[in-house]
Amino acid sequence: MEREGFIQTFDTLRQEIHLTEDMWIGLLHHVTGQHTWALGSCQHGPLAERRDKQWIAKVSVAHQTLTGIILDARWLKKVHKYLSFRSTAELESFHNHILMYASKRFSFSPPVYEARTLLSGLDYNHHVHRPVKRKSDGSIEYCKLFNKKSRKWSLYPVKVVKDCRYITDLQTAILRQRLTSKGMPRTRTTRPDDPRQHGVLSGVPAPTTEELLQTQVSRRLGQSLPQQ
Ligand SMILES: [Zn+2]
Repeated sequence: MEREGFIQTFDTLRQEIHLTEDMWIGLLHHVTGQHTWALGSCQHGPLAERRDKQWIAKVSVAHQTLTGIILDARWLKKVHKYLSFRSTAELESFHNHILMYASKRFSFSPPVYEARTLLSGLDYNHHVHRPVKRKSDGSIEYCKLFNKKSRKWSLYPVKVVKDCRYITDLQTAILRQRLTSKGMPRTRTTRPDDPRQHGVLSGVPAPTTEELLQTQVSRRLGQSLPQQ
């Protein structure tokens, strides 16, 4: 990125963080029912006339306590770290899940890879929020896990076994599709975006087998490859 571009992005980012900080402090006004004040206003649209919840009185213990939390100097000093904090743990876990369906050790044609990835997505979405497993006495069942890096044991709650209920729906849909259509074509023309038409992406044109046979020397024996 060019320097100017970088500075511009940085400024936008800084403005965004300030905006968030203003909104954060603005909460102190919002909770009292005041949505416009000297230095700013709330970002929300019109509010419902009738409310079940009461606004907090400006001079009250509750508002004083909230002010203490919102304007806490230590928190405000560190908040920018939390604003930009992102964990990729969930994403990594999802990628690991895809590997169960489409391992890197096998080569799949693009349509097969697509189908396998879709299957892994269905599995993930269907089971991601399943409840924890409980023992007969109602307590949560845990499993021990050893982390080689930290050399520490930790516990994680075991979840109930996957039910894979969507499989029956999938089979029904496949059968219905097969009965009402001609089925999959035996041969299919390559789609224009099929990556296979680019061949091996080495960037170096391959010599002929004859040329390689003449020039290549076996690394182990220091001899040419057997020619007869
Ligand atoms: Zn408001």
